[in-house]
Amino acid sequence: MHFNTDLLLLARESRGYSQTELAKRAGMTQETVSRYENNSLAVAEENARKLAGALNYPLEFFSQDARVYGAGITFETYFRKRTSVGSLHLRKVQAQMEVLRLRLDRLLRNIELESEFNFDAMDIDEYDGDVERIAGLLRAAWKLPPGPVKNLVGVIERAGGLVIHFGFGTPKIDAASQWVRGMPPLFFVNSSAPGDRQRLTLSHELGHVLMHRTMSANVEEEADRFASSFLMPAHDILPELRSRPRLTLDLLSNLKVRWRVSMQALVRRARDLGVITENEYRNLFIEFSRRGWRKHEPVEVQHEEPKLLAEVLTTVLKTSFADVGDLAKALLADEEDLRQQFPLGPTRLRVLSNKRNTGDSRG
Ligand SMILES: [Zn+2]
Repeated sequence: MHFNTDLLLLARESRGYSQTELAKRAGMTQETVSRYENNSLAVAEENARKLAGALNYPLEFFSQDARVYGAGITFETYFRKRTSVGSLHLRKVQAQMEVLRLRLDRLLRNIELESEFNFDAMDIDEYDGDVERIAGLLRAAWKLPPGPVKNLVGVIERAGGLVIHFGFGTPKIDAASQWVRGMPPLFFVNSSAPGDRQRLTLSHELGHVLMHRTMSANVEEEADRFASSFLMPAHDILPELRSRPRLTLDLLSNLKVRWRVSMQALVRRARDLGVITENEYRNLFIEFSRRGWRKHEPVEVQHEEPKLLAEVLTTVLKTSFADVGDLAKALLADEEDLRQQFPLGPTRLRVLSNKRNTGDSRG
């Protein structure tokens, strides 16, 4: 059997194991694992089984002739994160995302995803760095009406992008995106982030996917500008930001309900558009801090639920596979793993123990 050692590294990182830890679980030496990963030693069949078992991946997973993106390096993927995320954790989630991508690649191989609109790259350099213009052109291409984007996830899915609510295992990573040739653009959004944060972050990733085919120094700032321009076009939001003599907290909370972005994002937009001065901007943020709103703002924005992947899964389960176990086999995945990553519903009906007889629960 062909054993792809890139996938060994990927699987190990996806579990967050060190070489030593994997070696222990698989009953071999760390040196052996290291030599396997370096491709300096052929993996014997028996050891391949042990490694697969220890990693809880089907043996067939390792026989894929797949190109692995981003394993051990960080260049193919954009992350929106705070710098304090440890590199080990980052590698773990990156590996998990890549495993998911390989599964999606298999899943989508025989499926034509029909979409109303398209993703067409708009390289920032070809637009002289005019991010506002790119955001406006995209809104026009995707036929968005003026005003707030009511459902950003829906908009991206209508253009054929896949949005995945992902457990990053830390609130410090907001999102990541990836556009690999031959696949739809993938957007991984932290499932535990508040709705308004998810939207801004998703819009930021959308900016990367469209504008940045290559890395440069300003990509993060450009993606931020894209995010606010796309969700709050100057032309539409200016009259509303100016609608009273002063940008009050009351007005901001009303605008938050309507535009479905945080008050902080609104205040930043107001400053960038010259509606408020740098001083007013600072005072508003001092006020936010004083009220503890920097971390937890009032006014909840509902999460937008991705639907496209769930639809694909429902369809293939109806037409091509007997059950989830069968699908898992085809995707070279452990069934439980697949259920955790994909919107497939609960594993099984969970029967709660009948507590009435034990007297634990009353009323
Ligand atoms: Zn970014």
